[in-house]
Amino acid sequence: MRKKIVAGNWKMNKTFDEGVQLVKEIIELYSKEVTSQVYVVLAPPFIHLYKLQPLLFGMPMLELGAQNCSNMPNGAYTGEISAAMLKSVGCDYVIIGHSERRAYFNETNDWLAKKVDIALANLMQPIYCVGETLEERNNGKFYEVIESQLRDALFHLPEEQMRHVVVAYEPVWAIGTGQTATSAQAQEMHAFIRKIIADKYGDELSENISILYGGSVKPDNAKELFEQPDIDGGLIGGAALQARSFIDIVKGIK
Ligand code: PEP
Repeated sequence: MRKKIVAGNWKMNKTFDEGVQLVKEIIELYSKEVTSQVYVVLAPPFIHLYKLQPLLFGMPMLELGAQNCSNMPNGAYTGEISAAMLKSVGCDYVIIGHSERRAYFNETNDWLAKKVDIALANLMQPIYCVGETLEERNNGKFYEVIESQLRDALFHLPEEQMRHVVVAYEPVWAIGTGQTATSAQAQEMHAFIRKIIADKYGDELSENISILYGGSVKPDNAKELFEQPDIDGGLIGGAALQARSFIDIVKGIK
């Protein structure tokens, strides 16, 4: 059975104290209010990870993720953080290929393939992001774009590694814009992604891969999105910065 996951991507927000406060509030609301079997992944900036790990002890469904990792194992790469370092502070997930990294840091599918490999080699689950720009949606190229993002960064993986990948479909035009894909648009793309994975790896593997939706998910649209048969949770940006809105989104999972 595939995992239901809601991941909060804090991006470059929250000082150290603000981060600790947010996680304490999330833990409190989560403990009181969340009854469904949903994995909640917190992806704060790197500086928070070491401090947050002990706060999550005894909460097996609350897990830590990073927002990025280096594609190199170690060495003279000033400013980079390795996958092994992230694992050593308790990360179980790492977001790879977020559209902001593709756009502002020129990360290509080939480059991201190396990050996926190194995350998996360090026993973390990559949350691999795909998504089309508004221009690509409008010119009808979006299926091709998504297919090549999947093929070029993931499809070199052997089956036993592919099983540990989480895919996040995040249409670029919906990120931080307040414009969400409709549940029908999102479901259509998630079903397409599952089919592309099935064509390569077979139905059994594809049926067990979690595919998250991201892009302006809020408490009032989460439930309808999460009810779609191929949407297994969400990758949340802005609404993950407040415990109340984040937990209300988590509660959108049945
Ligand atoms: C994101 O950046 O992954 C994201 C989905 O952001 P937002 O929820 O703010 O659109």
